[in-house]
Amino acid sequence: MEIVVSGIRPTGNLHLGNYFGALSNFLKMQQTHHCFFFIADYHSLTTHPTPSDLHGNVKQVLVEYLAAGIDPEKATLYIQSDLPETAELYLLLNMNAYMGELERVTTFKEKARKQAENVNAGLLTYPSLMAADIIIHKAHKVPVGKDQEQHLELTRTFARRFNRMYNHEFFPEPTAFNFGAELIKIPGLDGSGKMGKSEGEGNAIFLADDPKIIRKKVMRAVTDAGPTTPNQPMTEAVAILFSLMRTMSKPETVDHFLNEYNACTIRYGDLKKQLAEDIVNFTAPIRERIHELAADEKYLSKVATMGAEKAHESAGKTISEVREIIGFRKF
Ligand code: ATP
Ligand code: MG
Repeated sequence: MEIVVSGIRPTGNLHLGNYFGALSNFLKMQQTHHCFFFIADYHSLTTHPTPSDLHGNVKQVLVEYLAAGIDPEKATLYIQSDLPETAELYLLLNMNAYMGELERVTTFKEKARKQAENVNAGLLTYPSLMAADIIIHKAHKVPVGKDQEQHLELTRTFARRFNRMYNHEFFPEPTAFNFGAELIKIPGLDGSGKMGKSEGEGNAIFLADDPKIIRKKVMRAVTDAGPTTPNQPMTEAVAILFSLMRTMSKPETVDHFLNEYNACTIRYGDLKKQLAEDIVNFTAPIRERIHELAADEKYLSKVATMGAEKAHESAGKTISEVREIIGFRKF
């Protein structure tokens, strides 16, 4: 059976980008694949070095994963720091990862610009930790959003390099996966390009947002003065709303507003109202489960313990084979 790995950093609540870029695919794949889903708490320290409530953040993502529909009996759902084998493989991969290739990664350059006062080694080696997360289970497929494409490319490079250097066809080369379609990027409502957990106010719509907040965020999104000639090309801001509508609303709804846009009769207020209602309807059941699960500490602890056990089984096997291949021997 093919192996699937994917993770999310506990840097904030899950948003529609996480859902449609990654989670929705996990949910389908857990039925047919051997799936590992984890909460990347080591990784969150690259940008949030001293979180005020690390455990609370991890719990929130665990709750939201479960509320969205991950089945911990079918899939292995675990917390990254419960699996120190990942850290060992990360160390070993770093021995064969080169400064030049790490410095060229777009997300590194962006983060280095954004947090110039904290360009730490973890930020630089983010791709080797991510590669360790994936190949520790010898994964084949990784359901992720478009922002992770370059990281996946490096994961393949590291896997290939390991196989070549130690002369062993050991790690498969994992690919980013979206059921044969292009990888998805959901834009942020503030026009900043990408919806993100740790972006500013008004960028993201979270699965846990209550209806009032969702309506407020959508109604506040930027638009323009409206089209004045038929079939006018869209401004970025309006294109963002249509792009969200394509993921959230029925095709007939999208067509209706597109026709109005092309005929210059569109009222953006109506479009936003409809979009907000469609988002509210979609997120309502998830939000309800979030509240129920957050109160059930006993269940969460059971899930995390079971996940760690299952993940150890897979990772322990890989790491002892890796040690053997490299040449570490017991006296
Ligand atoms: P942060 O801002 O802290 O980096 P994030 O929102 O980018 O948070 P990550 O934990 O980095 O979330 O990514 C988790 C998963 O969600 C990844 O598979 C990533 O590709 C996907 N993802 C994140 N944002 C988007 C988006 N806007 N569109 C599609 N997929 C996304
Ligand atoms: Mg991110």
